Amino acid sequence: LGGSISRAIQQMSNATIIDEKALNDCLNEITRALLQSDVQFKLVRDMQTNIKKIVNLDDLAAGHNKRRIIQQAIFNELCKILDPGKSSFTPKKGKTSVVMFVGLQGSGKTTTCTKYAYYYQKKGWKPALVCADTFRAGAFDQLKQNATKAKIPFYGSYMESDPVKIAEEGVERFKKENCDLIIVDTSGRHKQEAALFEEMRQVSEAAKPDLIIFVMDSSIGQAAFDQAQAFKQSVAVGAVIITKMDGHAKGGGALSAVAATKSPVIFIGTGEHMDEFEVFDVKPFVSRLLGMGDWSGFMDKIQEVVPMDQQPELLQKLSEGNFTLRIMYEQFQNLLKMGPIGQVFSMLPGFSAELMPKGHEKESQAKIKRYMTMMDSMTNEELDSSNPKLMNESRMMRIARGAGRPIRDVMEMLEEYKRLAKVWSKMKGLKIPKKGEMSSL
Ligand code: GDP
Ligand code: MG
Repeated sequence: LGGSISRAIQQMSNATIIDEKALNDCLNEITRALLQSDVQFKLVRDMQTNIKKIVNLDDLAAGHNKRRIIQQAIFNELCKILDPGKSSFTPKKGKTSVVMFVGLQGSGKTTTCTKYAYYYQKKGWKPALVCADTFRAGAFDQLKQNATKAKIPFYGSYMESDPVKIAEEGVERFKKENCDLIIVDTSGRHKQEAALFEEMRQVSEAAKPDLIIFVMDSSIGQAAFDQAQAFKQSVAVGAVIITKMDGHAKGGGALSAVAATKSPVIFIGTGEHMDEFEVFDVKPFVSRLLGMGDWSGFMDKIQEVVPMDQQPELLQKLSEGNFTLRIMYEQFQNLLKMGPIGQVFSMLPGFSAELMPKGHEKESQAKIKRYMTMMDSMTNEELDSSNPKLMNESRMMRIARGAGRPIRDVMEMLEEYKRLAKVWSKMKGLKIPKKGEMSSL
């Protein structure tokens, strides 16, 4: 998708005369690309109308940042679709909340329930799982297995065939046990059928959830809108989770789900494992959808805050994708100063959000300083190498001794380096603007 959209924009900006026709051609091309990416037809059509209103042809004709204006307009429109204008119910730690999951069979409910519980458990919550799926043979076993693995209390039954009763009993039991997040997994069917929706209504009445999360497989294509709408019409869906974003899914269905349920996407599933679960963030998602990488906002930020004379060097380093320990050292310095470049890096997904999570700034700073002390004991060769094999045990021991730290600290620092190198390498091949071209990216 990203490819065809940038091609369309490129073609238009190559046109000598930017008139209504050139813009229309470009928009048609983009429309096609969005449809192929499973964005619902009506959404695409509305978006096209909006863009025409926003994009002022006179500005375009004057030759100012044509590509940029259009790209930005598309970006903003897609972000707008993904923002339903209100946030969903957010559970509060220490207070009891009941969250019910709904969705078709195979959409990923049971897997996602556990991921959701695990996500909160890691933050110190007391989640619990209730299996109100009596339709699918083995449903309880699956939930039990997941829950046991994550050490999360669960409730269910092999004998009872009434999901309503199980939901009621399970919620009651975990309320008594002072769990603060009671998660009710439900059954699905292969199709959207009346019996399923009736069951969801009844379970919802019994469990009295504070939030109902609609779980949708991202690979269902154009069917997303109808499916989401059908669930919304039978129960009070308040949030959406999109699963299997690791596959070939093009992601456009997320826009449909939001439009149909008028509820925000809160997480996405990116794999079968418990921790393959990410908080949903509109802008990076749209960037990805448009093939702009995750770095659209990032490039803007660079232009905004990095002093002009430092931009080329920084971009050069980024585009080489070659992350050395020395670069890490420099970025740590920037992060600690929270100067302009530090601000830029705080925007990189996975960079400082993990390195310096909100609320833990003090500990994180101490950790970064510790890492830097160890790096001070490294040789130039070690700092400038991007060969991970160079760091053998004897080097690590020498560094540990030099810094007066245990060797496991050195190992931890090198692990962090590997993680950051991965983030950094995603920017490899970043197009570096030539002098004077910065603003027309
Ligand atoms: P349910 O019928 O809605 O409860 O769906 P399940 O939780 O049983 O999931 C159906 C299948 O999808 C299982 O094989 C899961 O492992 C798989 N699955 C769920 N979420 C994801 C995801 O985010 N990525 C991938 N690759 N597989 C997933
Ligand atoms: Mg299930």
